[in-house]
Amino acid sequence: MFDYLIVGAGFAGSVLAERLATRSNKKVLVVDKRNHIAGNAYDHYNEDGILVHKYGPHIFHTNSKDVFEYLSDFTDWRPYEHRVLASVDGQLVPMPINLDTINKLYGLKLNSFEVEEFFESVAEKVPVVKTSEDVVVSKVGRELYEKFFRNYTRKQWGMDPSELDKSVTSRVPTRTNRDDRYFTDTYQAMPLHGYTRMFERLLDHPNIKVMLNTDYHDIIDFIPFKEMIFTGPVDEFFDFKYGKLPYRSLEFKHETLNTENYLAAPVVNYPNDNLYTRITEFKALTGQQHPKTAIVYEYPKAEGDPYYPVPRLENAELYNKYKKLADQTPNVHFVGRLATYKYYNMDQVVAQALTLYKKLTEKSEDTARKPAISGSTELVDKLVSRDPAKP
Ligand code: FAD
Ligand code: UDP
Repeated sequence: MFDYLIVGAGFAGSVLAERLATRSNKKVLVVDKRNHIAGNAYDHYNEDGILVHKYGPHIFHTNSKDVFEYLSDFTDWRPYEHRVLASVDGQLVPMPINLDTINKLYGLKLNSFEVEEFFESVAEKVPVVKTSEDVVVSKVGRELYEKFFRNYTRKQWGMDPSELDKSVTSRVPTRTNRDDRYFTDTYQAMPLHGYTRMFERLLDHPNIKVMLNTDYHDIIDFIPFKEMIFTGPVDEFFDFKYGKLPYRSLEFKHETLNTENYLAAPVVNYPNDNLYTRITEFKALTGQQHPKTAIVYEYPKAEGDPYYPVPRLENAELYNKYKKLADQTPNVHFVGRLATYKYYNMDQVVAQALTLYKKLTEKSEDTARKPAISGSTELVDKLVSRDPAKP
């Protein structure tokens, strides 16, 4: 009998498996329908021996000392600060928009104070910043919004920024200085030997069993367990009872080129040209030396694997209906980007998983102290009777 069935071997599932196994001595079964661990952070050596991220570029950054220190038990790090150029008006300019972006784009020599005045002069007054369009036009005006954000967002999300919550474009700041880093978090680094290696170490414990190529539906009736941790799409868990939650997908086109370097930056964004949104050159992220180079193009898609929850009011409302159901489902815990329908970065998912672990241990300490509440073991009993050995 497993104490926990964990659905999904991504950050959410693997962090919980590690904590429950090593700290609480729980027996854990992790299943994933894919043929690998690490979820969307999975990386592997391609046929030319270059380390690539199967599901697009994953750059680790966080302000949380706790999260960084926790993961540091499972990996060494390569210091790495991410930089992005955007291809706009035939030039490659720093993204997020900063002082150099404006000077290069318009052939100016403004200083920080002058560029601040420039932004103020072009910014549009927006009484309440609600949408992803509002965020940008209220800071840098319509022209820069159209050059850098409007079409990229329309491609990426299949809808206009005015239809998306402000949180989406708020991820990308505007700067009046020359800082050209994509992120300003305190901790920015890449796992020295890759993400998959880090996940192997997270899951390397005698209390943890991992089953790949396994949809949980295929085993749930045969393998007994007490509680479930679910990290897949929450709407799918409830058989789409209230309808489908929208997710945005991507198609990744990987290529290896017979040249040592290809891009002028680790990532180049294409707001206005091409059907893809960005190209990534992996060696720039990993620091690997190799005579060839590997790149990936990201083509946004409506159908396919669910990669991005779509942040907008009506989707949040629909998710809240599922959340209510989730909260009423005994002994199943929902965690991660898909199960809580949140546009979370890796560090946020790790933090969410660590928080859930704390809640679970507090709960079990509580139960150990209090007499059993009637009905609380109902699901466990039902699941126990599913054990083929105990019909
Ligand atoms: P996932 O990694 O999606 O894991 C869920 C797992 O559940 C999957 O492996 C899936 O196969 C499995 N599963 C689902 N349903 C079932 C089922 N029925 N049965 C069995 N298994 C099932 N974050 C950053 O911090 N930095 C970045 O640079 C960054 N870049 C990104 C780029 C892209 C293109 C994408 C899509 C995401 C990026 N992220 C980035 C976000 C990051 O991928 C997520 O925050 C993180 O991987 C989420 O972990 P998770 O465990 O919640 O979900
Ligand atoms: N964005 C944009 N132009 C860019 C970069 C980002 O319009 O050059 C918008 C777009 O809507 C994108 C969002 O900002 O989805 C968040 O960007 P981020 O780079 O954080 O996206 P992710 O890495 O999560 O795909």
